[in-house]
Amino acid sequence: MKKVKITVKKIARYDDLIEQYENPIEHACSMELDQTFICNGWERPDGFCLSAWDTVSSFVMALAHGGETSTMAG
Ligand SMILES: [Zn+2]
Repeated sequence: MKKVKITVKKIARYDDLIEQYENPIEHACSMELDQTFICNGWERPDGFCLSAWDTVSSFVMALAHGGETSTMAG
């Protein structure tokens, strides 16, 4: 299985929506712009945002098995 490198290119944070909730989350995302991670197949790298992983993990799996997806969002 190949290793997959992920670079954080954009973090979406909607303060206008966060403000509308009674219990706003203060740290919506643990990742930083241009931070990079090396994935070992299905394993979520340490510090990789859980909700982003939910979105990208199937792409990471495809890439780890030799697929060609190169752009994704989460
Ligand atoms: Zn996040």
